[in-house]
Amino acid sequence: MPLVSSIRVNSPNVVYGDGEHTSVYEYMTNEVCVSDGVCNVKPVKRSMTFKVNDKKPRMGLMMVGLGGNNGTTLTGGILAHKYNLTWRERTGEKKPELLGSVTQSTAVHLGQCNGEDIYVPFSKLLSMVDPNDLVISGWDLSNANMYEAVCRAHVYQPELCDKLKQYMEGMVPLPAIYDKDFIASNQESRVTNKIEGTKFDCYNKVRKDIREFKEKNKLDRVVVLWTATTERYSELDEHIHYNIEDFHKALESHNDSEISPSSIYCYAAMSEGCIYLNGSPQNTIVPALQRFAEKYNEEQAAKGEHNFVYYMGDDFKSGQTKFKSMMGEFLIGSGMRLRSVASYNHLGNNDGLNLNEHRQFRSKEISKGGVLDDMIAGNPMVYEEQKDQKADGKHPIDHIVVIKYVPFVGDSKRALDEYTSEIWMNGLNTIVAHNTCEDSLLAAPIMLDMALVSELLGRVEYKNEKMDKFMPLHPLLSSMSLFFKAPIPKPPMAELKDKGAKWETEMPLNALGAQRRQLEGLLGALAGISVGPCVCGPVE
Ligand code: NAD
Repeated sequence: MPLVSSIRVNSPNVVYGDGEHTSVYEYMTNEVCVSDGVCNVKPVKRSMTFKVNDKKPRMGLMMVGLGGNNGTTLTGGILAHKYNLTWRERTGEKKPELLGSVTQSTAVHLGQCNGEDIYVPFSKLLSMVDPNDLVISGWDLSNANMYEAVCRAHVYQPELCDKLKQYMEGMVPLPAIYDKDFIASNQESRVTNKIEGTKFDCYNKVRKDIREFKEKNKLDRVVVLWTATTERYSELDEHIHYNIEDFHKALESHNDSEISPSSIYCYAAMSEGCIYLNGSPQNTIVPALQRFAEKYNEEQAAKGEHNFVYYMGDDFKSGQTKFKSMMGEFLIGSGMRLRSVASYNHLGNNDGLNLNEHRQFRSKEISKGGVLDDMIAGNPMVYEEQKDQKADGKHPIDHIVVIKYVPFVGDSKRALDEYTSEIWMNGLNTIVAHNTCEDSLLAAPIMLDMALVSELLGRVEYKNEKMDKFMPLHPLLSSMSLFFKAPIPKPPMAELKDKGAKWETEMPLNALGAQRRQLEGLLGALAGISVGPCVCGPVE
């Protein structure tokens, strides 16, 4: 299977310029109107023009929770890859491979040349930053240096940790924002590195950290990625969390008991023009911050500047939920009626210890809970009878999630799932799955992907048929839902807001295959090519 290292598109729809290209994407969609019991469907042709800045920036990645298992696993993996560090295991010498990363380890099918399939690496479809070029920094409540922290994680082999020492020992996480009310009380002994002062002082300090990091490393773009301890949910207050002026005022006047540390990092990151990604389940990116991002980008566009901010969350889609969203797509998509999903996890790392307390577990339970909703909504044929149950507040699927802390297994998480579906003529089909894996080895590639893809999407502008100038993509990067367990739904457009639309309007995509197709389809459109299966292939 030949793999090419780059592509150039020959099409009147794609114009290459100096460090940028434009691509006109033409597509078919349907206008649907249901009235008096008749559904009229009108296929319509639409087009959208994308402008992509092809110059790779010098990119920084600042992780919140840098010294945790995920933070050290990602940092160690990137450094091992960059310096080509090898290590011995019982089965022989090993070399770093970035497996599990969609950007680094998957390819996109382009078509056939002389009957042979041709693929391009995902990372070469458009100009994407190389992981080896990332500049890494971040914050942690623990002052352990990154060598001590990678050893503490018990994820990498001792010989690899030893070889990483020269690169990681000098990396010490920046002091972090601490509010003991938001994370489990069992985390207190870890806190040796906090910012002193009020939450408003913390906001200013984090902004300063980002500015200094940018200046010192001459960076064009910084992505701030939350991979710290799961927080409890913030209780949203209509006088604080819904517009940025209220939010800022509450922070400044210390009316901040329901403003989480993660929301402060997010606000600071956006204030400094960064991308913010939330890898944990809590409701960090509150409506005020979502509106702030929209406003920030409108102001940038009005000034003719291009340093737009973006965000996406929540919670890395690394193991059980990823599997569930593939299994749900398979079962419900084949016309079976999935009726119960029972998920048990146990793990023994610090994440498991934190999730041992109810309020933090509850955040995780919520983020794992909605994963099947779009698949249920997408097949009303089999869930019609369950509609009434839903009206009574019941879910069409009995779905439970249990997480237990078992220290001995460390980072090696066990996930057990049982899926039971109603099938042909009242039969039942039960599938059981058991997955054992180091949790951080699954999370690290996803963290890398989301950082690289969000940076790339930050270099894209678009114009549809009604617009006279290019605009940035919506700050909520929904097309990256592939990487998130509970993708944040899009807030309503201004005109819908005026009509009293509730905060969430769009059901996020959770089905794994659909998420991958959406992202690949968008990147293909940006490049100016069509990707994915063509209906004519099997016909001709
Ligand atoms: P971890 O406990 O090893 O690391 C978290 C780190 O965050 C700790 O070093 C802690 O000191 C630090 N921290 C806590 N609060 C902080 C703050 N306010 N500012 C800065 N640092 C802070 O956990 P982990 O295994 O690395 O997981 C990190 C997060 O990722 C967790 O919330 C977890 O739920 C989430 N997550 C992990 C996976 C996975 O597969 N590993 C999947 C989905 C989500």
